[in-house]
Amino acid sequence: LFIAFEGGDGVGKTTQIRKLGEHLAARGFTDIHTTREPGGTEAGQRIREVLLGGRGVAQRAEALLFAADRAHHIADRVDPWLTAGGVVMTDRYIDSSLAYQSAGRQLSVAEIGAISRWATTGLIPHLTIILDMDPAAANARTESRGGANHLDQAGLEFHSRVRQAFLDMAAAEPQRYVVIDADRDPDAVAADIAAAVDRTLTV
Ligand code: C5P
Ligand code: MG
Repeated sequence: LFIAFEGGDGVGKTTQIRKLGEHLAARGFTDIHTTREPGGTEAGQRIREVLLGGRGVAQRAEALLFAADRAHHIADRVDPWLTAGGVVMTDRYIDSSLAYQSAGRQLSVAEIGAISRWATTGLIPHLTIILDMDPAAANARTESRGGANHLDQAGLEFHSRVRQAFLDMAAAEPQRYVVIDADRDPDAVAADIAAAVDRTLTV
């Protein structure tokens, strides 16, 4: 079972992955893996430093570095875990590239999609959970707990395009996506996610 968590910065993906892990463990799953992009592997950690280290990388180089991180992450971690029958939850996957590099930075959606499919040899999650929230509200939440201001770096318009891209992807494939209102109490969000995953497990 492969589950991706997607959504803008500060919507609570990391917290919700942990809560879903607890839910799945309570349901009796034992082989549960939590991972993330970029940076889910040792090589990926180094790619993450290049991407987020603050020196800036040309947009096409950035897109390829996200894809390189993803290619190694899938080959080195996710594929082996899934082959062994495990549950894998990833904090970001292909849709983040489609949202940030394509809708956000305005590279071609077809090209970003093709690079992503090549990098992953076409591995698609069984379920993608979009945590949806107004980017200004998400930013306020992140800042209030001492995190970086994302809107300073890219601006509200950029983050609004990113949000809309996630919603559009979900609307185009409703059977494989669930959109969750993330601007609520974390336990209420977690309950909705658990219900969506339980539905996926029974079909
Ligand atoms: O989710 P996480 O904090 O690990 O993401 C790190 C940063 O990389 C975020 O600010 C996010 O906006 C950015 N990012 C991106 N393109 C991706 C994935 C993440 O610009 N494909
Ligand atoms: Mg996070």
